Formats: sequence, structure tokens, C-alpha cells
Amino acid sequence: MTTPTLKIDKLKLGFKTWSGTLEVLHGISLHIQKGERVALVGESGSGKSVTARIVLGMLQQLKSARISGTVEFEGTNLETLKPASRHALRGTKMSMIFQDPTSSLNPVYTIFTLFKEVLERAEPGITNELARQKAITALADVAINEPERVLDSYAFQLSGGMNQRVMIAMALANNPALLLADEPGTALDVTVQAQTLKLMSALVEKHQTSVLFISHNLGVVREFADRVYVIYKGNIVEQGPTADLFANPQHPYTRALLSAVP
Ligand code: ADP
Ligand code: MG
Repeated sequence: MTTPTLKIDKLKLGFKTWSGTLEVLHGISLHIQKGERVALVGESGSGKSVTARIVLGMLQQLKSARISGTVEFEGTNLETLKPASRHALRGTKMSMIFQDPTSSLNPVYTIFTLFKEVLERAEPGITNELARQKAITALADVAINEPERVLDSYAFQLSGGMNQRVMIAMALANNPALLLADEPGTALDVTVQAQTLKLMSALVEKHQTSVLFISHNLGVVREFADRVYVIYKGNIVEQGPTADLFANPQHPYTRALLSAVP
């Protein structure tokens, strides 16, 4: 078997509180092969977002977080990396798309400035001309047909659907090996969400990007994922190819989730 893009092994997370420790992840394991789209499905509060944040290295510096287990990215245990190398992976080899695109784009800067910052992570010192050219190509890939106007706008001047496309274009601009998509588009209306998921789907297909697709909605997951992990109160209770899971769910919680799919 080839080296997985992502391999999480017995990951535990707790948060220290004034009265003890709140255990959030109880030792979850999952892997994603190159080019595979894997969904992590579960109800609100089950531990999906914290898992993605640990992969990105965003919880490790939090004083209250207690983390154990291993996370390997392309065969490297992330704990063995120096903080600077680990930080350098973010936005380059792994990137993330969040639930609400408009509030994740800094309103103080134009889309071009934000885009250039993303490109600079992979190519420090990139010129404005080249950054603009690359941004325009990336925006065309997400079917934005007035890229110049969009680049000179601020996020608050654009629709939620447009911002979502911009986020997808930015997340994929440096051709990451791993895309973490945390409930992408749930802040948008259903038709816009469906369109942007289609776009994202075509792009990850084209670039063979591995994806961790986080969702509470099995209907969306059916469209998008090759394989599914079901997380319930911080435990993976079931996993398998999407079609198998839909045809023959094993865990009562999976059955309950399925009954909510129209
Ligand atoms: P979801 O599956 O909805 O994405 P999360 O991963 O965001 O759930 O959160 C899992 C649990 O961890 C929740 O109970 C949440 O309240 C708790 N949690 C998340 N982040 C923190 C934090 N920084 N401090 C304390 N508790 C947190
Ligand atoms: Mg979440």
C-alpha cells in the first residue's frame, strides 16, 4: 500500500477546565489515501472541527488542550517537525475551507491582497503581476467570469456564493496535497451550496487532491465522498465505502443519521 496522505492514529483530545478535563476525542483513527475523498460525519459537537484543527496544528499551542496519539502527513509524524516547518505546511501542502466564507475572508483587504498572501506562502516574493495572473487563472477554475472585478473587491461586497468560490480557489491555489473542508457552504442556500460543491469536486478530481470532507449532512456526503467515517461523541463508530454505508449501516447512530436523509 502507498503512503497515505493523512494517517491519524488513536488521537485523543481533552480540554482542561476549572473542574477537570472535558474529553472530546477518545482515540480516533482514520486515513486518507492519495486522491481519496473521505468524509467525517457526525452531529454538532461530536469532534469534527477539532480533528481538522489538530491536523492543521491549530490546537497544539492552546494551553488548555491535552492531545495524544499521532498524526502523519505523507508519512511524516507532524510532532517531529519544528514549529516553523509545521506552520509552513499550512496554506501550501494542506489547506482548509471553512463553513462561512464571508466571515473567514478578512474584510480589511481586497480579494487580490488576500490571494497574494496565499500565493506568497508557497512563493515568497512573488510579484504583483504574477500573483494577479495566477489569481485570475485560479478564479477562472471556479467559474468566476469577471475575475478582475472580484480581485478588486472586498469580501463584504460579494455574495456568499461568490466568496465561497473565492475560498475554494484560494485553498487550491498552491495545489495542496490535502484539503480540509469543514462544512463548506452550510452558511449558503442549498442551491448555491450544491453548485459550489460540484465545482470543488471537479477541481479535486483534476488535481488528485486528497480531501477530508466534514459534514453533518449525509445527503451531501453521498454526492461527494468515496469513503465515510461516522463520529459520535468523540468515537469513530463506523467506517466504510459510501455506497456500503448507505446500503448497510451497522451502527444505530448511522441508521439515525440516514433516516434524516430525504
Ligand atoms: P463539531 O463536530 O460540531 O465540529 P467541535 O469539534 O467543534 O464539534 O467540538 C467538539 C467539542 O469540543 C464540543 O463539545 C466543543 O464545545 C468542544 N470544544 C471545541 N473547541 C474547544 C475549546 N477551544 N475549548 C474547550 N472546548 C472546546
Ligand atoms: Mg464543526
